Amino acid sequence: MYLDYGKPERTRAPEPLLMWPTADPVPAPGCGVCGMLAEERGSAYGARDMSRVTDLNVRIRRHPS
Ligand SMILES: [Zn+2]
Repeated sequence: MYLDYGKPERTRAPEPLLMWPTADPVPAPGCGVCGMLAEERGSAYGARDMSRVTDLNVRIRRHPS
């Protein structure tokens, strides 16, 4: 029975795809790709390019460590 899904009355489980996490993901230690992405994120922050920051955050979070 999947019909009872989607009643936000009592259970307020976090929805990762709709609610963006506020904390930036930490790059995996020793991972060159993550380090590069984090560095790029830093410069994206400097340029106030938040859509690029978000994109890089997604890539860091999804990168297998
Ligand atoms: Zn990585």
